Amino acid sequence: MAYGRKVFDLRRRLAGVVDSRRAPQTSAALVAAAVFYTGLLRIRSFNALEPRLREKPFLRLVGAAPERECLCSVDTVGRSLCGMDLDSVRAIVVAMLEKAERNKVFREGWYGALRYVAIDGWEPFCSRHRRCPECLVRRVRIKDKDGKTIKVVPEYYHRYAVALLIDERFDLVIDIEPVLPKDLRPLVVKGKGPTARLVKASLDEGELTAATRLIRRVKQTFGWIDVVVGDALYANGPFLTTLDSLGLGAVIIAHKETDEPLREALHLWKDQAPHKIVEDETAHERMALWDCRDLETLSTYEGKIRCVRGTVTRLKRPDEPPSTWCMLVTGKATRLAPEKVLAVARARWHIENTGFHQWTTRWRLGHVFRHHPVALRSLFWLFLAAYDLLTLFQYLQLRSYGRDCGKNVTRTISRLIDEMLDELAGWQRLAWDSS
Ligand SMILES: [Zn+2]
Repeated sequence: MAYGRKVFDLRRRLAGVVDSRRAPQTSAALVAAAVFYTGLLRIRSFNALEPRLREKPFLRLVGAAPERECLCSVDTVGRSLCGMDLDSVRAIVVAMLEKAERNKVFREGWYGALRYVAIDGWEPFCSRHRRCPECLVRRVRIKDKDGKTIKVVPEYYHRYAVALLIDERFDLVIDIEPVLPKDLRPLVVKGKGPTARLVKASLDEGELTAATRLIRRVKQTFGWIDVVVGDALYANGPFLTTLDSLGLGAVIIAHKETDEPLREALHLWKDQAPHKIVEDETAHERMALWDCRDLETLSTYEGKIRCVRGTVTRLKRPDEPPSTWCMLVTGKATRLAPEKVLAVARARWHIENTGFHQWTTRWRLGHVFRHHPVALRSLFWLFLAAYDLLTLFQYLQLRSYGRDCGKNVTRTISRLIDEMLDELAGWQRLAWDSS
């Protein structure tokens, strides 16, 4: 906590959170602090939080002791979250990352001295019973034990486009944006000329639309980001054009062999031996690489696209067939050597392994603390701020601790949390002011 306060001015950041309640007894800033520590200390539900709201160590932690005996009820926490100003909670993560950037944490970049952001869709939970105005809806088949459909029921869920800063040391969340249901989408123009009119959208939004909104805001907020890394959903001309217009390069996975420009590249490579072979002795892998620059066969994109294909053979398992990866590369990322393009594309799995998996298994982000569009997003922002702070702390301050715990990042962080919880229980008197 001393690190958070000293380096990132955490107390002031949390104090900047506001909500829409009038003259509340417990300020939004105190509620935000309580939820932040709920995330950091992995308190599993609001029920489990309730007794802590009157325990001295927790009150000291959020900055409410010694003035108060009890912070508030969990109902109040929920009400405050529902009315929280999202920009004011998002500002905590933004300030933390800007400070880290000023402190040169990302200054060296990663491959090619560039800074990479991976984007992906994330679905934290779904429900057959409860819904809110921001819920997306899909129909699911309920089957009996013989596999016969007995009925079709609606399933409600939330989906977010997530941007994660990736490098070899850590993955930090930089922004999230909800995929909107049809009722909340902006009106669309239908028809042309004098008969044109504004109508409601007929379908829920797609991930690509939300991700486009997300990436514009990411670039506007963090001008130093260089390259976007994405899966095959993003391998299309309009998205690459958007990235171009924002000055962002791209490394995007391409799957469909019938889609341009991969089709053209595969045709050119058909009878060619690999252009380059790289052996990675530490990873026990051999990479065969094909590279093709300046493809112009994608009609929805004006610039030139580079295609790279890599096949990876695991030297310790010669019987296993090699895995193949194809990537589309544009903008600044075209300066990378083909094996680096492959490494960046493979690092995209960080977002699913370190990010999403850890968030649902360890951070309780799949638990619905309060099902309300604003409450969900406010809580995510506070939990993710805790995740980012802990990640930065672990990699910048506790390197030897991480080494001693082995290579499993998720387990290392969990061990750290256990130790923090043990200490919190043991603290009788805390000397909070580290200044
Ligand atoms: Zn909902």
